[in-house]
Amino acid sequence: MSESEARPSNFIRQIIDADLASGKHSSVHTRFPPEPNGYLHIGHAKSICLNFGIAQDYQGQCNLRFDDTNPEKEDIEYVESIKNDVNWLGFEWSGEICYSSNYFDKLHGFAVELINKGLAYVDELSPEQMREYRGTLTEPGKHSPYRDRSVEENLALFEQMKNGEIEEGKMCLRAKIDMASPFMVMRDPVIYRVRFATHHQTGDKWCIYPMYDFTHCISDALEGITHSICTLEFQDNRRLYDWVLDNITIDCQPRQYEFSRLNLEYTVMSKRKLNQLVTENLVSGWDDPRMPTISGLRRRGFTSASIREFCKRIGVTKQDNTIEMSSLESCIRDDLNTNAPRAMAVLDPIKVVIENFGDTETLTVANHPNNPEMGERQIPFSREVYIEREDFREEANKKYKRLVLGKEVRLRGAYVIKAERIEKDAEGNITTIYCTYDSETLGKNPADGRKVKGVIHWVSAEAGLPAEFRLYDRLFTVPNPGAADDFVSTINPESLSVVKGFVEPALKEAVAERAFQFERTGYFCADSKDSTPEQLVFNRTVGLRDTWAKIAD
Ligand code: ATP
Ligand code: MG
Repeated sequence: MSESEARPSNFIRQIIDADLASGKHSSVHTRFPPEPNGYLHIGHAKSICLNFGIAQDYQGQCNLRFDDTNPEKEDIEYVESIKNDVNWLGFEWSGEICYSSNYFDKLHGFAVELINKGLAYVDELSPEQMREYRGTLTEPGKHSPYRDRSVEENLALFEQMKNGEIEEGKMCLRAKIDMASPFMVMRDPVIYRVRFATHHQTGDKWCIYPMYDFTHCISDALEGITHSICTLEFQDNRRLYDWVLDNITIDCQPRQYEFSRLNLEYTVMSKRKLNQLVTENLVSGWDDPRMPTISGLRRRGFTSASIREFCKRIGVTKQDNTIEMSSLESCIRDDLNTNAPRAMAVLDPIKVVIENFGDTETLTVANHPNNPEMGERQIPFSREVYIEREDFREEANKKYKRLVLGKEVRLRGAYVIKAERIEKDAEGNITTIYCTYDSETLGKNPADGRKVKGVIHWVSAEAGLPAEFRLYDRLFTVPNPGAADDFVSTINPESLSVVKGFVEPALKEAVAERAFQFERTGYFCADSKDSTPEQLVFNRTVGLRDTWAKIAD
């Protein structure tokens, strides 16, 4: 697509420019550090475009690092999906994939170093007691009675923890910092805990696992990261990040910078909530086309270029904000308007019989109205065709530019037809519209100067292929479902509607995730899981126009 050419500028890039200009760094090294406990979502795309985009533009490096210190919640399925999504978004990580778990030996060594320096201790408070001792934002915390154990005792107990001799929750290793700090994260944070869990990378080698705040900064330093970019909720944690690196023997001092996370209206971005939607079968999976996941958007028909463009348009700042769904949609619409070939599909068919038409004819139509390079295709025109039910009325005023009983309309790329009479079933529903056609109107106006303004789409009833169309609406009924007490209760029961109709025969070979504009009905792509040449299934990526603005009125 026409991704806007100019390099984005933002406060992080300005910091990098300054660091390069001053000689603080001679090159840039970033990382994208997902925890493999779910599939990536559009918020992660913002972080990916930022981190990998910086590496690209500054000829630097960007690591993909799995922040995998929580074995119970993590899974190799997530690792694989994340790699796939990063590549699909158009990015390549530098060197080998990194895992925090690769550093478990070193992390353990640094924990021992802190103990030796009198900067870490094994605590035996229960989790509840620990919470109680921590104090509040307005009250300082209290020292644990185990805080002043000797170095020898701490080393011995930590060794027992490591050897599996201590039950989960009975002991943990805490950094000895400041129980009165105004920053809660500095009140002797836990840095190691006991977990008898099998890890997807290290198996059963470990039964103690390092905590995020201890692991993250050390992993950054071990990888030589220069700018460690994360979201704003880690602002306070920066103190702990720096404290750990200041107190261990390591010769790299990455700096952490925070930006505001992406929030998108009418959806949720927390992996815990997305996981709940999946496990409670409220959606069909992580890649349900209604999900804000990369895999869901891909299956829905979003291109990677449109997601990159979206990330460029929203920019990177420190202000919390919520982006309207229409901004995301306008990116894909702009892309597909230029790049998607046109085709015809009828979503709510009604039969038209052209009584004075004989044999089937093959018509040639352009694949794109403004781009001849996209070529032409052939479509069969036959005595019986389908049109949309809403494109016919028995009576209508002049504003209605479609087919009206006794009047004429043009079938797109074909002839002018006139509705002569209709047939109804017992309930009064129209079953067939009988028409005549003017054989002199293929590619030209009627010879006698009759004006036919309306053009409608159609599919040959004889040659058309039956197809299922999945039409999506927003997944939630409120702009900020995450703020609801029970976000599940705000799910939109009409977020998916399935209709059955017909598509032109050229779509038999429609490739999954390749988009089409179905004339007048929107942008669609074949579903990657359920569509087969025998049973076509199309997802509507987005409508032709922004209908959200209207809804909001
Ligand atoms: P969750 O809270 O849903 O578990 P997370 O932030 O813990 O999300 P990670 O896998 O740790 O998820 O995220 C990897 C990277 O992506 C982090 O650097 C994180 O800051 C960034 N990220 C996550 N969500 C967003 C978002 N909504 N907008 C921008 N960046 C995000
Ligand atoms: Mg996280």
